[in-house]
Amino acid sequence: MKFNIAVIEGDGIGPEVTRAAVAVLERVGERYGHHFEFNYVLAGGRAIDETGVPLPASTLEVCQNSDAVLLGAVGGPKWDQLPGHLRPEKGLLQIRQGLGLFGNIRPAKVFKALKEASPLKPEIMGDSLDIVVIRELTGGLYFGKRGRDEAGAYDTMRYSEAEVRRIARLAFEVAKKRGGHLTNVDKMNVLESSRLWREVVLEVAGEYPEVTLNHQLVDNAAMQLVRDPHQFDTIVTANLFGDILSDEASMLTGSIGMLPSASLGEGRLGLYEPIHGSAPDIAGEHKANPLGTILSTALMLRYSFDLEEEALAVEGAVEKALDDGYRTPDLKGLGRTVTTEEMTDAVLERLV
Ligand code: NAD
Repeated sequence: MKFNIAVIEGDGIGPEVTRAAVAVLERVGERYGHHFEFNYVLAGGRAIDETGVPLPASTLEVCQNSDAVLLGAVGGPKWDQLPGHLRPEKGLLQIRQGLGLFGNIRPAKVFKALKEASPLKPEIMGDSLDIVVIRELTGGLYFGKRGRDEAGAYDTMRYSEAEVRRIARLAFEVAKKRGGHLTNVDKMNVLESSRLWREVVLEVAGEYPEVTLNHQLVDNAAMQLVRDPHQFDTIVTANLFGDILSDEASMLTGSIGMLPSASLGEGRLGLYEPIHGSAPDIAGEHKANPLGTILSTALMLRYSFDLEEEALAVEGAVEKALDDGYRTPDLKGLGRTVTTEEMTDAVLERLV
């Protein structure tokens, strides 16, 4: 099969980690008989330098006409003093909006070889951990009416049934492909928007009898994530709660360079990127951990291209490289310290 992938290398370590991910996709193409076409486009700091804006119209157009978008990371001190609308991060928000990406998928996975990196006690952590947090991305408190009046300041949290239905369906689809268990997180004992959220989630649950569903209030969920994370498989929640819980879940893994993410909309087109930033402190030093971006390609294969076997092959190759002791400098634990390129080669060699 043939797929068009828009590649935004971005700033800092972005080009180094996207190079690794492209090499992995090319190897997948060779092994499994697919053709991936890569179209390089600008966004973020480099786009500001070369075009004056963080997201040139041509970039959005190429992304809209692609099957998936691969992104390194954007931003850095060079652009920190610019006004808000000209900041590199604005380019990312505009892409997500322009592509109608309403759901953010963030796996928090701890590989067995890296379990010591987790801040959790060994008896809570166990051998490994595998949770996915699905966050609604384009509604709720961050997009509601806000302002100031004589009494103070206010923000509003609003969800339409349609907004909840589409993120709920996305979450059930993901849970179905994973462990078959979905935890809905809301604050329905206090918030009206959460009561609507829960009603709609319950209604959508009727379409997915194969997925078991439970509910937790967000304060309890935040506590349960550190008390007993193994009770979770897939979590779905609103924008604000997801922002916080997905960061909490990722810190359970203890290694920011390892974690991928996907942002999805109605169709198959998605944006895939590591959760880390552009790490300007180590840019160009061959120290960047490429595994978060490489694992983002596994999500791309799974969610945009429906190539589950290929996705598992990439994840398996990463796991084997870790089991065999390859470690970029950010990864603690026993092993051999290697460069970005050596880690990438280790994954490529194990991609069979
Ligand atoms: P960061 O994630 O870039 O770095 C935090 C720390 O983690 C640094 O010490 C860095 O060296 C380390 N780190 C991050 N990724 C790593 C990797 N793959 N391998 C090894 N070490 C890694 O966060 P920050 O320092 O707060 O932000 C730096 C810049 O990135 C800022 O301009 C910020 O706005 C931007 N940013 C971009 C995104 C994005 O593009 N999605 C996300 C977060 C931050």
